[in-house]
Formats: sequence, structure tokens, C-alpha cells
Amino acid sequence: MGSNRIIFIAIGAIIGIGVAFAAVYNYQTQEMQQIPVSAISEEKYLPFGTTSFMYPGEPLPADEMRVTVFGTGWGFVRPGQADQSIFVELGNGDSFVFDLGESSEANYMAMHVPYSKMSNLFITHLHMDHMGGIPHMYAFGPVGDRFTPLEIYGPSGTSPDLGVKYAIDGMKQYTNWNVISFKAALPESDGFDINVHELDYTLNPGIAYDKNGVVIKHFPGAHSIDGAINYRLEWNGLCVVIPTDTNPTTWDVENGKNCDIIFHEVGPDPHIYAKNLNVSVEDAQLIVDSSHTNPKALGKIFSETQPRLGVITHTVENADTLMPIIDAVRVYYDGPLAFASDMMVFNINKDEITQRMAIGPDNPWVNTVVPTPQTGPELDIHDYKSQNTFDHVIPKCEDATDGQLCY
Ligand SMILES: [Zn+2]
Ligand SMILES: [Zn+2]
Repeated sequence: MGSNRIIFIAIGAIIGIGVAFAAVYNYQTQEMQQIPVSAISEEKYLPFGTTSFMYPGEPLPADEMRVTVFGTGWGFVRPGQADQSIFVELGNGDSFVFDLGESSEANYMAMHVPYSKMSNLFITHLHMDHMGGIPHMYAFGPVGDRFTPLEIYGPSGTSPDLGVKYAIDGMKQYTNWNVISFKAALPESDGFDINVHELDYTLNPGIAYDKNGVVIKHFPGAHSIDGAINYRLEWNGLCVVIPTDTNPTTWDVENGKNCDIIFHEVGPDPHIYAKNLNVSVEDAQLIVDSSHTNPKALGKIFSETQPRLGVITHTVENADTLMPIIDAVRVYYDGPLAFASDMMVFNINKDEITQRMAIGPDNPWVNTVVPTPQTGPELDIHDYKSQNTFDHVIPKCEDATDGQLCY
């Protein structure tokens, strides 16, 4: 290779690195646009309805609340829509996970949320589209940086075997091999402990949490069977309601007053549901009406409660489902309205609410912010792995005996 060519390549590399650096710099410093609620569009698909973006690691002002919707799904497991999970972060550093439906955990990882920030978990009810992601998050949290117990809050049931304690006891059995294997390998910590806080689902409202200026109340829903609860989080004069699956109720109206953002579920349009699942419209109507909220009724709830922003979530999000829902909500409600997609993020302060999309990498590493304890494993691996197994492992050549297969 001639020297001119080497110089050319070197200059090209320097320019390339410079361009890449500028791109990364721009990526990390893009200013957050402050868009008033009145400017929020109903048309939600990117780029419509999206005022700007949030990237991983964005700091949160001390007086603000940030709510990121990491799962909006209605029970189907599909690549474009994770099952329900809503993440609430407060300017005081506290954070709360509401539901962890199937595949929503990947969206937390994309936004670099460390497991140590997912320790406070509130479950609205025990359908798997709201808690299907918990076993993995529990079992792998201490591989990341959760070294303190998982605090799980959830409803009681009409009998003990229908409450959250019973469900989590079962999850401990389900994850036992996983947990033992990690306890024999990872530094000893309290990360595999779980404290379950079972909340009386009949209370209206009950207090689920009261710490550090944060009050989280719970109130009943009317879902397929009793034992579904909603949450209302209040902090610093700000408020957000996190929904369970429910028929429209007077509890929704009572507990939704004077709140900044109310999230609420809706059922899909019965005609579209019937067409796609090959059931009759009557059966589809029955499914929606027996356990979920008709969007027209949601409009009534929003008109009675008058939130600063009403957010439709937990429904089947397809191109043909949006407008029938919005049109029905609009029969009774003409206030600020958003239709949540996965990764939609809302910043709330006393002056305004901004609505953006969160964007992170598809293949993130697990973010860690808490240092790993300098302890040995809690369990002795030799109690769980025989010498016979060790003897069958092909060693590095420097560790091998004469004639042993090695690499
Ligand atoms: Zn659900
Ligand atoms: Zn449900």
C-alpha cells in the first residue's frame, strides 16, 4: 500500500470518527421540547402526535414526575405491543413499576432502567398480561444490580388462593432451580428476597404505600372476578391514576377527581374483535362488556373527572382500532386526550404535561448503577454440582492433565 493511500485512509478515519462523535454528541444533548397539552395531537402514529423523543439517561427535574408506558397490550403477545406496564419516576429519585406484563421488561432495558430502579412493583390484578414478566425480572434482577428485596404490592382475593401472596409463593417454586443456581454463583445479597404486601381489594380507597412524601392509594375495579385494583399515586401536588382492567365504575369517577393524568383501559371494538378472532359479534361484545370498559363509557368517566390529560391504554392497538375508540370516547369528552403506544412518555409538572416517545437501542446491555457487593456466593456450588459433571468439562490446556482433551 502506498504512503499516499495510507494518509488518505487515515484522514478518512479521522473525519469518520469526528462525524460519529458529533452524531453521538447531538444524540445525547438534544433539547427536550416543552409542548403544552393543548398542542398534543390525537393522531398517534409516528411521526403524528409525537412532539419529540426521550433517550436513555435523561435526567428528571426535581419537581417533576415522569411516566413511561412500557406496555400497552391487551393480552395478545406480539412483537409490536408489550403487555401492560407503566413506570413512574419522581424527581426525588423514587421509582415505581405498575404491572409487568409479558415482554414489557425489554422496553425497560432499552431505556437503561436498572433492576435496582424496579424494586417497587405494584400489580393491578393477577392476569398474566399484567404479571407475566415478573418471574424473569425477579430471577435475573440480582444478575443486574438489584441487591435488595423485591417489594411486591398486589390485591387480595375472595379467598387466600386468589390473592397475590399465593401467586408469589407459586412463583418462588417456579423459579427455585434458577434461584439456587444463581445463589451458588453470584455474590450473596438480599436480591432474591421478596416482601409481599397484600392489599385488601375491597377498600375504597386503601393506602398501599406512604413513604418519602409519596402516597399510593388503591381502589377497586370490576373485572372478570373480584380482586382487581387501580392505583392513584400522589406526590409533590402531582397525581397519576394507574388502571386495572375493569368495567366502568363509580369508583373510577370518585378516585379520578383532581388528578393530572388518568390512564384507563378500553376494550376493542366488538366488530373488529369478532372479525379477527372468528367469533360472533355478540360473543365479542360479551367479552368486552363483561370485564372491560366501553370507550363511550370512558368518555363519560373522563368528562366527570376532568383530568389534565386522559390517556387511553391497554387495548388492541392496530391501525383500524384507533379511530373507532377515539370517536366513541369523544361522544362525552372533549378535553385533552392521548392514545398510549409502547414507549410513550409523559413529563408532568405544575405548568404543563409533555408527551414524547422514548427511544433506546434494540440490543442493550443491562444497566447497573448499584455496585456489586464484595461477598462470595451464599451457597456452595459443590452441593449442587457433582464431581462427575466437573470431570466432563473440557479444560484449558494449561489446566489439563497429560493426554486430556483440552483447548
Ligand atoms: Zn389486561
Ligand atoms: Zn385482566
